[in-house]
Amino acid sequence: MKINSNYSNLKDSYLFSTIAKKVNEYKAANPDADIIRLGIGDVTLPLPKVCVEAMEKASAEMGVKETFKGYGEEQGYGFLRTAVAKYYTNRNVVLSDDEIFISDGAKSDLGNILDVFSVDNTVLIPDPVYPVYVDTNVMAGRNIVFMNGNEENGFLPMPQADVKADIIYLCSPNNPTGAVYNKAQLKEWVDYANRNDAVILFDAAYEAFIMDDTLPKSIYEIEGARTCAIEFCSFSKKAGFTGTRCGYTVVPKELVREGVALNKMWLRRQTTKFNGVPYIVQRGAEAVFTEEGYKQTQENIEYYLGNAKIIAATLDELGIKYFGGKNSPYIWLKCPDNMKSWDFFDMLLTKINVVGTPGQGFGENGEGFFRLTAFGSRENVIKAMERFKNLFA
Ligand code: PLP
Repeated sequence: MKINSNYSNLKDSYLFSTIAKKVNEYKAANPDADIIRLGIGDVTLPLPKVCVEAMEKASAEMGVKETFKGYGEEQGYGFLRTAVAKYYTNRNVVLSDDEIFISDGAKSDLGNILDVFSVDNTVLIPDPVYPVYVDTNVMAGRNIVFMNGNEENGFLPMPQADVKADIIYLCSPNNPTGAVYNKAQLKEWVDYANRNDAVILFDAAYEAFIMDDTLPKSIYEIEGARTCAIEFCSFSKKAGFTGTRCGYTVVPKELVREGVALNKMWLRRQTTKFNGVPYIVQRGAEAVFTEEGYKQTQENIEYYLGNAKIIAATLDELGIKYFGGKNSPYIWLKCPDNMKSWDFFDMLLTKINVVGTPGQGFGENGEGFFRLTAFGSRENVIKAMERFKNLFA
């Protein structure tokens, strides 16, 4: 008997446990400290009312013989896939329902999609980045090449002619940097992927935060993407579904490698290993796409973006350089005086009782940077920024 020895190559994920430990120790030594957390990547506003009502109605249906639902289609109910397809038409993207696969969230699909690719593929991953891309490939034993995100490229790495890869991860708006690719930049990636027979895994989990109409929310807004890209999206940040769990993945039919349609492979994978998202949750997700759902989710997103704006305005005032904060719930600031990420973390914690996330935890290129999130309460954001002004003025 042999275990998957690739697991021994995973780095222990110390980031959030180290943060929690440091905060708890500080709190124990300073019980009166009023600690403000701007480090969390989870939403804090409750579910939109329309979603709750839709799920209440669906729950009631489940208790009545005539409307009870057992196993559903593994790839999601038609009503939700149709609603997702309709949402894409806002950006002039035409998808058919059978190109959309409903799942329990983007994280699962980002990991599971690797089932359809050979372990011999080389993977190109930005640094810094959402750690799931790295860890899922380490588990499978794939060769990983990193591409540098840094101040020079605005944390938006671009294709390099001499770097060859089969699978490319792009995340826009980006976690942790908040950077967003424009259409010309994504076009370069799409052309590169088509030229090299590579597949782009495009993580659009934060698309709902894009308010600038000139920026692409979907990679399929780019010509040529249907032959080279899979898109992952989520209701988590868009509609507060982090605990409710729903997302979707788009695999266009024209995406063919070695003569095989990846759409067919993914359908086979999902029907074999997945039994679908609960009917009740899918009805809740469907409500997001109604007129009232749009209004209510938009209110929440605008609330978070308002927080981001307050943080960005404070950093502007203090002359602290940052990325993101617009079209994104993340603000990626450069630690003043060339401080290291963890030193900056300690300073904020002990001097002004504000908690964020050290950039170094997202990759080597994150050293010297720091992530603040806009998911907190307005009151706390304002208070934290007053403390920033006192400390850095
Ligand atoms: N992709 C990115 C970039 C994320 O930051 C997250 C969650 O924080 C996810 C995907 C996971 O989303 P979900 O809750 O749908 O699994």
